[in-house]
This record gives sequence, structure tokens and C-alpha cells, in this order.
Amino acid sequence: MRKCLRCGSDMVEGCGIRVFASNAGITLTDGENKKFFGRLGSPKVAICPQCGEVSLWVEDRNTLDKLAKKLKDD
Ligand SMILES: [Zn+2]
Repeated sequence: MRKCLRCGSDMVEGCGIRVFASNAGITLTDGENKKFFGRLGSPKVAICPQCGEVSLWVEDRNTLDKLAKKLKDD
């Protein structure tokens, strides 16, 4: 169970974020100006039912390893 970083409450996982006017949802990239290259997939979403904090995170181990390598290389 994910805990809220703000208030410590249990968060509701399995939520989603939708970008209206598109069914694509949101996609993370490994560079802020990248649109189609370096895609990292969609984030997981949890929302705190107490304070409303929205948490986004990446669960895929391969993606996290890729980012860790990028950090080392920079
Ligand atoms: Zn909270």
C-alpha cells in the first residue's frame, strides 16, 4: 500500500490521469523536450483520499534500470 507523502494516509492505487481531447493518456520520457523518442511508458497513479495528493511513479524495473544508467552516464 502506497503511503501519502503529505499526510501519511493510505493512498488509493490503480487510479489514472486522462488528457482530454486525447485517448493517449500521458507518457513519460527521459528528456523534457522529447516527444516520441526515449519513451518510458505510462506512470502508475495513486490518489490520497484524505488530502488529495496525487502520486505518479514508475513501476517497471527495466525502465528504472535504464534511468539509473542514464544518471551514471551523465
Ligand atoms: Zn494525504
